[in-house]
Amino acid sequence: MSSKKLTMPFRWLLLLIPIALIVIFLATRSAPSSKNEISSKSTTTSPEIKTEKRKDLADLALPPDWSQLERFQKTISRQTFLQRLQTIYTKDDSWKKWIVIDEEENTASIGDFILHFSKVDSSPPGAIFDWRTRSDLSPSREHPLEGLHIALDPGHIGGDFAEIEDREYIWEDNIVREGTMTLRTAQILTPLLEERGAKVSLVRSELKPVTDKRASDFSNPRLFYRTSEIRARAALINHNIQPDVVICLHYNGTGSKSPESSQNFHIILNGTYTAGELAHQDERFQMLQRLLSGTITEEIPLARMIADAFNERIKLPPYRYSDTSRTSQRIGNHPNLWGRNLLANRLYQCPVIFMEPYIMNSHPFMARLKEDPEEIYLEYAQAVARGITAYYQKN
Ligand SMILES: [Zn+2]
Repeated sequence: MSSKKLTMPFRWLLLLIPIALIVIFLATRSAPSSKNEISSKSTTTSPEIKTEKRKDLADLALPPDWSQLERFQKTISRQTFLQRLQTIYTKDDSWKKWIVIDEEENTASIGDFILHFSKVDSSPPGAIFDWRTRSDLSPSREHPLEGLHIALDPGHIGGDFAEIEDREYIWEDNIVREGTMTLRTAQILTPLLEERGAKVSLVRSELKPVTDKRASDFSNPRLFYRTSEIRARAALINHNIQPDVVICLHYNGTGSKSPESSQNFHIILNGTYTAGELAHQDERFQMLQRLLSGTITEEIPLARMIADAFNERIKLPPYRYSDTSRTSQRIGNHPNLWGRNLLANRLYQCPVIFMEPYIMNSHPFMARLKEDPEEIYLEYAQAVARGITAYYQKN
């Protein structure tokens, strides 16, 4: 007993020396960037936790519960899994670091989670809630969109928030606010869908954020208007609205200081996860949720119909991302459809169509906006309504 007591302080000393060295190393490393923000006592721990969090989680993300993927056991064949993974969700081989396919066992190991493939594909359950596909709608419905619940997500916040969210263009006497225009478009689109039998929910119905956080709550305002805001919308969609499909309404724009001369149009579907994004466990999990719940099998044909309806009346050339882009790729062999991993189209747990028409900081758009803004909102809304109807009315 006594000899043990004597050696204890030495053991502690041996333990404390390396800890102290690590603390000193971290404190000196993080000091330059954070010396004004954090008191000297907390610099040793806070930056360390932050750095560690950023490494394997996206901003403001929580670690995923992998057991939620259990419901997808034996619902997808290896061929379909790989085909979606390689043609929609990734563009290179970086997924192989995280997903190991065992052909003999017919499984995929994703960390500690083992996914068992089936021989043939069966109808998968929704990721968090059971959204309805086109074939789930009653064949004997009176109106084409009867039984369908559509959520409209007017992109950005608009109004007084347009400036801080960097979605306001002022040029000569033109003021263009994306979040204000998307809300107006959603308000015009709502009755067009309702008269065709759909139930419609607006994710945002005012020129205010959905999140109760504000820019002052974060070190970087982007975490407010992008991350926190989209995460709040995702919570609303996934837990309260639980729609069959979400249409994200946006107006495209560029970072150019002077107005652009031309416009274009494209639709974004969730896909093309980069090596850096796959290194985040939450993004990897959410990619698999989408892949396994089969959102893409509704998204591609629906997006094609909306794109075709749009192109029929509104003549805008397709936007084209660079062939060498690591973050985007063409989807469904259609000039207007592109796969990109955005926070909204990743988190909303059902098919998501992310609209990107026009160029709002272009001469032709601003001229039309000055002349008759409602005409733009109406043609946009009508094209989306026609495309949605064309897809869901078929059985
Ligand atoms: Zn936008």
